[in-house]
Formats: sequence, C-alpha cells, structure tokens
Amino acid sequence: MARPLPQGHERWEDPIVAEVRRAREELFAAADYDIDEFCRQLRDRQQKEGRHAVTRPPRRPQRQETARAPAALSLREKGENMSRARCLCGAVTWELDGPPELMSHCHCTRCRKAHGAAFATYVAAPPDRFHLRGAEHVVRWQSSADYFRCFCGRCGSVVPSDPFDGRIFIPAGNFDDDPDARPLAHIFVASKAPWFDIHDSLPRFDAYPPGYDWPTLSDRAALDPPGGGARGSCLCGRVTYVLEGKLLRCANCHCSRCRKAYSAAHASNLVAVPEALRFTRGADSQITYKVPDAKYFTHVFCRTCGSSLPRLDSGRGIAIVPMGTLDDDPGMRPQYHIFVGSKAPWYTIADNLPQYAEYPPSA
Ligand SMILES: [Zn+2]
Ligand SMILES: [Zn+2]
Ligand SMILES: [Zn+2]
Repeated sequence: MARPLPQGHERWEDPIVAEVRRAREELFAAADYDIDEFCRQLRDRQQKEGRHAVTRPPRRPQRQETARAPAALSLREKGENMSRARCLCGAVTWELDGPPELMSHCHCTRCRKAHGAAFATYVAAPPDRFHLRGAEHVVRWQSSADYFRCFCGRCGSVVPSDPFDGRIFIPAGNFDDDPDARPLAHIFVASKAPWFDIHDSLPRFDAYPPGYDWPTLSDRAALDPPGGGARGSCLCGRVTYVLEGKLLRCANCHCSRCRKAYSAAHASNLVAVPEALRFTRGADSQITYKVPDAKYFTHVFCRTCGSSLPRLDSGRGIAIVPMGTLDDDPGMRPQYHIFVGSKAPWYTIADNLPQYAEYPPSA
C-alpha cells in the first residue's frame, strides 16, 4: 500500500526539508533574503543534476531566471495554488489546493499490481485541500481490513482513495500540472520488482521508514503453480495469466496516456508474440477502454480491483504486458525509455538506458 512518508515525524526528517529548515535558520537574519526563491533554486539544481542528495546552499543564491518549458512550470511559478488531475477518460477529476506534502515511490507488490507499473508514486494531503468530481464513476475494492483501493470504472486509472490516518493519498501520475513536489524516498524496496533497478540517490527503505509503525502486509504471492513461464495476476486474483513464448522488447513509456492509465511515473511494458500470453483465469473479468482519438491506445483492467492487465493488440499482432502485474521475473529488462518528451516534470530518469523523445528509431 502506498503511503508517503509521515509529515513532521520526530525520528525521521526528509533530507530536503531538513536542508531548507537549516538554511532558513541560518539565513533568518538577512532581511532581503527570499526563502521561496532559495527553495526553488535548490530544487532546480537538484533536478538539473539528476539527484536529490543535499548540499549546502550558497549564502546568496543568484537570482537569474532560467527558461523552462511551459509544461514544467510549477504551481508557484504559475502564480497558482492548485494542481489538477484526471483519469485517462476524464470521467473522474480531482484538484489539490496548495502543494502536496510529501512524495515517495512505493515498490510494494500491491502498488505494482494495482498500477501495473514498476512502482507507484504517491503524494499526501489533508482531506480539506482535496476535491474530487465524478465520484459516481469510482469503483472501490477493499484491499485490506482498513483500506480501499479506488479506480475509474470506465478507464481503469487509479484514483485517490478515502482519507487514511488523516490524509488523502494521491497517485502522482495523473497530475496535469507540476504539483510542486519531488520524490523524497523509495519505500518497500524489499518488495521491489526483480526486473527493475533503482539508480537514483534517494533514501531507500525496505518497508516504511524507521519509526513508522503501521503494520505491513506480506508480499502478494503468485496464485498459479510454478513452471511453464512467467506468472502474472491482478491484485484481487480474479485474473491470472502465464507468459510463455517469444518476448520481443521491453520499454518504459513516459507518454501522458500511459502516465494517466497507470497513474504512475511511467509504464513498463513488455511486448511479446500474441501466442505467448495465456490467461489461466478471469478472461471474462476484464474491461477494455480505448482512448477515442488514439489509433491503438487501449487500457485493459480487472473489473473488480482495477489492476492493469495484459492485452492482445490484434492490429499490430502483439501482446502487451504491464510488467507490474508479473509475479515472476520474465528474464527481460526495460531496454529504453520512450516518449521522454512527455515525461512527468517531477520524475528524473537516473539510469543509462537510451532515451527517445517519442518512438525508438526502429519502431
Ligand atoms: Zn505500495
Ligand atoms: Zn476514467
Ligand atoms: Zn482483479
């Protein structure tokens, strides 16, 4: 379950907040010092350098403006105080007043299945700053004794669930705006997908950060017996499949449709020959949503739990598997990043894989 790091925890303070707090204390005496300007420059520099490790700030940061793409403008830069998000089909929309409190990447098996992605990125906010429209389209599935996971019943995007422990947890992949937050840590790294490596320098925790005493669920195990290919399943277990046959390629896609469909930083999709995909149960428990103005883009998901599911693309003669639903290691790794031109402004690619603005040259 994705729960961003606790706010104001006594035994753990995220490094960027700590840095800003120390800088604020240090520079308090300088009357003309603009702390907002400092925060922005600190964040910009860390983004530019592709890391989030903390360095000491200059006492007098330079106030030069840098040109930035309009899509990457933060809330503060736009002079706005609200970030908007929507599901893939637009039936469910939500807004957040003010910046999110914290952001983290969760690698737990449940988040990976619910999103179909390598990991899920969530932010947190107090419920009174959160507004959702289209609630009649939201389907709820009880994933544990005290938590429901929610998704759009039309398109399968993950949507924010009820408040938990005084906070709304919001998947970051659906934001239309830059929510003015950056990831602070990786959590549940002990449950990480074997086919995904973490390359950035953010703090990593096996489960919740130290001092975070919520009970944790054990990893969701595979449901089919082993043998005969890589197994996969949705979160609720109604749909299971086996992948046995020729695997063709594997890519991380950063396009805005994938980010909204998977409600994640990017999709990790494995492409195989159609015969390689065999559903072992639940072939009739799936909903297919095709984006009306797209040639191919289709999102298939479990009608009960909303997990993204593999699909056959008969037009292109391929099977497409959202790797987050895999229970076993398929033996293939993401080979490149595509549609990097549409990448989420809050996500930094830290690996050395080739990056393409749109499709790879061979496609
Ligand atoms: Zn999680
Ligand atoms: Zn929708
Ligand atoms: Zn399901």
